[in-house]
Amino acid sequence: MNTAKIAVVGGSLGGLTAACLLRDSGHDVTIYERSPHELEQRGAGIGLLETTSRYLVERAGLSLDQVSIATDHIRYLNRDGSVASDSAHRYLFSSWNTVYRRLLTHWGEDRYKLGHEMHSFDQTPDSVTVRFGDVITEIDLLVCADGVGSTSRRTLQPNAGEAYAGYVAWRGMVPEHELSTELASSLTDAITYFVYANSHILVYPIPGIEGSVEPGDRLINFVWYRNYLEGGDVDDVLTDRNGVRRDLSIPPGLATDHHVAEVRATARARLPRSLAELVERTEQPFVQVVYDIDVERMAFGRVCLIGDAAFSARPHAAAGTAKAADDGWTLADALDDADDVPTALREWEPKQLELGRSLLERTRQVGRRSQVDNSWEPGDPDFIFGLYEPGR
Ligand SMILES: Cc1cc2nc3c(=O)[nH]c(=O)nc-3n(C[C@H](O)[C@H](O)[C@H](O)COP(=O)(O)OP(=O)(O)OC[C@H]3O[C@@H](n4cnc5c(N)ncnc54)[C@H](O)[C@@H]3O)c2cc1C
Repeated sequence: MNTAKIAVVGGSLGGLTAACLLRDSGHDVTIYERSPHELEQRGAGIGLLETTSRYLVERAGLSLDQVSIATDHIRYLNRDGSVASDSAHRYLFSSWNTVYRRLLTHWGEDRYKLGHEMHSFDQTPDSVTVRFGDVITEIDLLVCADGVGSTSRRTLQPNAGEAYAGYVAWRGMVPEHELSTELASSLTDAITYFVYANSHILVYPIPGIEGSVEPGDRLINFVWYRNYLEGGDVDDVLTDRNGVRRDLSIPPGLATDHHVAEVRATARARLPRSLAELVERTEQPFVQVVYDIDVERMAFGRVCLIGDAAFSARPHAAAGTAKAADDGWTLADALDDADDVPTALREWEPKQLELGRSLLERTRQVGRRSQVDNSWEPGDPDFIFGLYEPGR
């Protein structure tokens, strides 16, 4: 296809990956991000699947060991700290910040428009008009990568399924050098799980805040899934220390003292000592809510939804950023192969719908087995990370 003028709305990992790919295909691409500052998520960890790192390795000239840390075991602990199961499995872990910084550096500052919140858009058969306050642009294709709280999804598909999963993730990280050598080394060669009644926690090493992967600079990251009843219970945990009820997360430093105290006390009471120590030493634990978001369509004429703006699956497959990247790779290919934007989007949509649905279904099952049914036995291969299926 000839050069298309493209706006990507949302400058996080999904939007950046898609924008880089579309630019590589020769299109005229601008990213619009509502945040007035470059994004920062204080280093939270991500399981790094191949599709997420593919752009950095194939097009940005980076090696995996520059952006990630490898672990060689999947280890489950018993409550007393002894090992319940240990199997050889290689995972790569990184952090949101590390991948974002690398992608943004590759993209460059030009055409990364901060402080541009999309307020509305409309389209004719020939173009899309997008409004960011006073700034109005006319383009050939609008790629909406505006995340789990996407207003584009709500505009395009007001009836999309959006449901609270019944639990949140308490998260945090501790610098490796603040832990005893023995504890740090027991948590850096593996992903470590503890599964217990209606809950589980996982722990893995990630790059330091500045992206260093050197031993001693790394962080040990935990993700602890805990159930909160819909209504008062979840409202309370999602109300920050300033009294503001938040929808998606409580950022570091804003959880209320009583919730932080409760989390630390529960860690002491319920978790193996090593994992409890990690939770207790975390200065600013934070919260991310787990949602199931299900769409019927991703393509609408000259507008499409990608990443969490389309499907947002529970994090148990560690595949959210990989799915967003896959949407970008396939979108660039579809535009290369088609004569016009609407045809490309029509051709692109079915496989991405299938991918989103299968990931959503698989991660719902993991969530149900862990948080409701208690049918997750240590070492179960169904729980291995993967975008397309466990381990892939
Ligand atoms: C507890 C937890 C653990 C996770 N673990 C992993 C993991 O291990 N591995 C993994 O791959 N994924 C993981 N994920 C999922 C991953 O974080 C998401 O899938 C991923 O961030 C989605 O990227 P995105 O670019 O689609 O959206 P987002 O990262 O949500 O970005 C959306 C962007 O759009 C911007 N925006 C929103 N509205 C507008 C607007 N109107 N105008 C302009 N800009 C706008 C926002 O400011 C934001 O920058 C996890 C998620 C959770 C909750």
